[in-house]
Amino acid sequence: MNNHLLTTNHLTKQYGRHKAVDNVSLHIRQGDIYGLIGRNGAGKTTILKIISGLAAPTEGGFSIFGKSGRDAAPFMSRIGTLIENPGLYPNMTAAENLKLKALAMGIRKRNQIPELLETVGLKDVGRKKVRNFSLGMKQRLGIALALVGDPDLVVLDEPINGLDPQGIAEIRETIFVLNRERHITFLISSHILEELSKIATRYGIIHDGVLLEELDREELLARCSERIQLKTSDTRGACTVLEDMGITRYKVVDADTIHIFERLDAGGEITMALAGNNIRTLGIAVKNENLEDYYLNLTGGERHV
Ligand code: ATP
Repeated sequence: MNNHLLTTNHLTKQYGRHKAVDNVSLHIRQGDIYGLIGRNGAGKTTILKIISGLAAPTEGGFSIFGKSGRDAAPFMSRIGTLIENPGLYPNMTAAENLKLKALAMGIRKRNQIPELLETVGLKDVGRKKVRNFSLGMKQRLGIALALVGDPDLVVLDEPINGLDPQGIAEIRETIFVLNRERHITFLISSHILEELSKIATRYGIIHDGVLLEELDREELLARCSERIQLKTSDTRGACTVLEDMGITRYKVVDADTIHIFERLDAGGEITMALAGNNIRTLGIAVKNENLEDYYLNLTGGERHV
């Protein structure tokens, strides 16, 4: 038994000879704000479309509340989506747009619409037509539309794309409040890791259709924190030397690499102590990557402008 709300199982989508999504297995737990990170064309929208029932996979599939295939059908209404653009009616007000969606879904709950408008910070827009909304207001209305029907999981495709810093902050706050107070799980795509890093609790990093890494916030932050990166001829022996020096905050990351998170100025001392124990230092450097550097290193690309 696990607490996964949604998993994708070796999900693959092929367009002609091109695999837009290649064997992707995501694990989204109840209560997560899951950031699906990847550059333009990485395959994010395709994954979100499949999960939302808007596209069919070529291979693999997904499970929601542990149910897949036909058994998942009754649970699909538990997913609210905002993919690509919200499909708003520009000559209607925010409330009218929401009313139409509620009617289409057969929902007649009193007070639902004012509550939704309040939740996304649009309660004062009154009779203003959507065509006169800012991009940020349209995005927030899009989120309100995704919330009609009280979903457990809300899927948002690049919800902060094109917004100014104020708009980004408002969307972030809305997502944060919905997650904390209404226990809504979010799956959010973005091409900028830094922008999601303030709210996402878990990350899936996707590149050319392939899931490169899936990791929790704490793990990601630990990987980006300041450290000494030490490569030696004898990792086990080096650990003993570090312990003897009173250094305990370190992690063996691969066969010959250790990351040390304390005494960052002790590089010389460490090298000498290793030499005294006949251990060769193959490389030693202080690293301080920020999130975006980490992501770029992983995907082997250039910085965004
Ligand atoms: P973006 O943010 O630019 O939308 P993305 O990560 O969401 O990027 P997708 O839209 O999922 O990426 O596209 C992944 C790949 O699949 C791209 O190479 C795209 O050109 C291709 N693709 C997407 N939809 C189709 C389609 N209907 N037919 C053919 N190729 C497609």
